[in-house]
Formats: sequence, structure tokens, C-alpha cells
Amino acid sequence: MDKVLIANRGEIALRILRACKELGIKTVAVHSTADRNLKHVLLADESICIGGASATESYLNIPRIIAAAEVTNAIAIHPGYGFLAENAEFADAVEKSGFIFIGPKADTINLMGDKVSAINAMKKAGVPCVPGSDGPLTADEERNKAIAKRIGYPIIVKAAGGGGGRGMRVVRSEAELVKSIETTKAEAGAAFGNDVVYMEKFLENPRHVEIQVLADGQGNAIHLGERDCSMQRRHQKVVEEAPAPGISEQMRNKIGDRCRKACIEIGYRGAGTFEFLYENGEFYFIEMNTRIQVEHPVSEMITGVDLVKEQLRIAAGQPLSIDQSQIQIRGHAIECRINAEDPNNFIPSPGKINMFHSPGGLGVRWDSHIYAGYTVPPYYDSMIGKLITYGESRDEAIARMRHALDELVVDGIKTNVPLQQRIMADENFYAGGTNIHYLEKKLGLS
Ligand code: ADP
Repeated sequence: MDKVLIANRGEIALRILRACKELGIKTVAVHSTADRNLKHVLLADESICIGGASATESYLNIPRIIAAAEVTNAIAIHPGYGFLAENAEFADAVEKSGFIFIGPKADTINLMGDKVSAINAMKKAGVPCVPGSDGPLTADEERNKAIAKRIGYPIIVKAAGGGGGRGMRVVRSEAELVKSIETTKAEAGAAFGNDVVYMEKFLENPRHVEIQVLADGQGNAIHLGERDCSMQRRHQKVVEEAPAPGISEQMRNKIGDRCRKACIEIGYRGAGTFEFLYENGEFYFIEMNTRIQVEHPVSEMITGVDLVKEQLRIAAGQPLSIDQSQIQIRGHAIECRINAEDPNNFIPSPGKINMFHSPGGLGVRWDSHIYAGYTVPPYYDSMIGKLITYGESRDEAIARMRHALDELVVDGIKTNVPLQQRIMADENFYAGGTNIHYLEKKLGLS
């Protein structure tokens, strides 16, 4: 596998490029007309403009990406996260065109992309799930009422094809049930082209804790411990950390082992994440992400495993280079997502960066594509970088994050650095283990 096409942009494209360089793999950057000056485009061995600024014309345009791989003789395509990373049609088109898709098989993406089939597969593999309807809801109102009664209110009606925190509705009493199912079904049909809905217990104050896995599709799989991503706004993660506060080694090994075995059972290939809600000491599976995630660096910092290099090795057909006994969790890592947005009202703030200074020092990692003179385009996600700190203890990681945030200078546009500084100074964050509603409550948003 001597040439990889990077079908993404921004920090993750640069992250993939760096991993390729370390492994001596040549890189092809594809970009939109708005992204000619992206850092990885300037650093790649070859680059090709594949279309207009709008993602549908470029980063979501399957034929153009495949054509770019053909003209550059790339061997494999890395989808990054977002865009086409969890699009089974893309994975299929890549493989049918004779290229390697750096990720799982299209069938696996389909299985996990439908939440009802994902939950069923996970149950079968012994992964704990939220008590629920065990399948799609039908038009039988009495049956639906009986299911809700069995689960116990409050319940949540969710779209099987939902994503991005959309397509779900909390129901607190039987009186609202029928109407809520109808509305969620109609919305899901319109938004996702799939009106299948299911029901599960609504957990009131859970934390978001997820397990990172790597599997080679050849019968080997490992887990790399957990991450806590409970600091969220509108279901978007803002801060992530590993390990999760208060999770014992015994609990980690138990849930991690279930995920590892589930990977083997479903023939999983590549990097993946099992997302759980965690409440009162119990894990409840909600979904699997079949790709590399934004927050992967915190797991890299505490395990010393380069997840993107492992993705490349697995795609090249190599068996996993490490086994579970070699995974040792050491220290603590925190990631703050840095967004080009107003820290008070969250309105995106694209524009030219006049002056830029990156933080540094022991245990500080800055994954970002920005530089002085770079213009943040208005067309894509507002994340402009990830600041990651590592420490021997959680306290040390937080102390390093505080000074690293103070050192970071991005002049010319607004960023959420002041919000991250508030979170790092928050006494409940410092204590650890806040739930998924904490940030919105702190900000007075709920
Ligand atoms: P999506 O694919 O849209 O991200 P998820 O199934 O991952 O959907 O759920 C997104 C978020 O919705 C969760 O992180 C959590 O905040 C909330 N949520 C989902 N299911 C439940 C549940 N059963 N109880 C409480 N909150 C839930």
C-alpha cells in the first residue's frame, strides 16, 4: 500500500498525512476550490481539486473522489471522520473500483448504521444495551403501550436511521406516546429517508463513556480503554478525556472485553468506537462508530498506540501488531476542541487568522491545520484544532491544559478558548464525572 488518497480536510487530513509519512506512504490530497491553501494540501505528494466549495460538490462527491484515485494511481482511500466515513455506498464503490477502503467492510457499516440492527447484533454478542423494544415499533398502539409500560417511563423514541443527535423524542407518560411515535416517524422519514423507529428507556443523568477498539478482520481485536465525552452541547462533544474518572480497571476490562469479542463476532475490521451511556455503575450501548473519531488522540496518549498508523497497517492486510496484554493504560489525557465560533452565542466565526501562536511544552499536543495568514472558510465544520494535554495524573493534565489554553493565540477570528478556560476552571469538572447535561446547565441553556 504505497499511496493513500485522503478523502477529507482540516486537522484529520493532516493527521492522516503525518501517519502516512511516518510509514513511507505517498499521499494524495483531494480538496474543494475553497481549500487550496489547507496545510495538508500543501504538504501532500500530489493534490487534486475535485469540485466547488460546497461539500456535496467535493468531499461528498463519490465519483469525483474515485476518479481522483484513478488518475493518481492511489492504492487506498482514507475517509477520516464525517463526510463519507460512514457511508456504506462509498465504501462499496471504493472497493468495487479496485481500491482499498481504510475502514470496515460496507456490510459492517450498514449493520452498524441502522441502530435497530446494531443493537440486535450487540445484544447477540453480549454487549449490554439500554432496555428497549428489541426491534422496530409497529402501528399497533396497544403493543407500543405495553412495551413502554414494560420498559417504564420515561422512554425515548428513536429513529433507526438517525444521526447527529437528531430523530429522537422523550416521552414521559402514556398520554403522549402515540402522538410522539407518529411525529418521530414522520420526521425520521423526511430527514433520513427511513421511518423505522424504536423505543428505549430514557436515562435521566447518564455520562457518555465510549470504548476504543482496533480489529484486523483476521480474528484479532483489542480494546484501548475508555474515553469520557460527557462535556457536550447539543449532543456535540466539547471536551474529552481518558481514562474516564471513576471507572475501575476491573470495569474497564469487563466492558472492553465484551467490545473486543463483539468485534471478532461481527468480523470487524479497522478502528472503531462503542458508545455507551453510563449510569449508576452500568454501561448501556447506544451506537457504534465505524471510523476514527475526533477524540482518538486521548486514547493514543494513554496507551502509546498510534491509531491512524494501525488503521493503515490493518488496511494493508497486516494482522494486529499488538495484543491485549501489551495495552497498558498510563497517565491521563484531555482534549479541548477549539472551534472558530463566538464563545458566548456559538455563532461560527470564519475569516482570516492574522496572528497565530501554538502552545507547547511537555505533555502538550496541538493537532491543527491552521497557520498565520490562513483563512477559515465558512463552508465546513467550525473546528480548527484540538488541544490535547497529557499528565501522569488527571490533575497534571488539567494544569497543563490550563496553561496551554492561555498560551494559544488565534488572532483575527473568534474562538471558543474562553469557554474551554471556563470549563478547565470549573470545580465540578475538576472533581470529575459530570453528566451529559452538565455543560448546558452551567451555560444556562437548559
Ligand atoms: P446519534 O447517532 O444521533 O448521535 P445516539 O443514539 O448516539 O444518536 O444518541 C445521541 C445522544 O442522545 C446521546 O449521547 C444522549 O445524549 C441522548 N440519548 C440517546 N439515547 C438515550 C437514552 N436512552 N437515554 C438518555 N439519553 C439518550
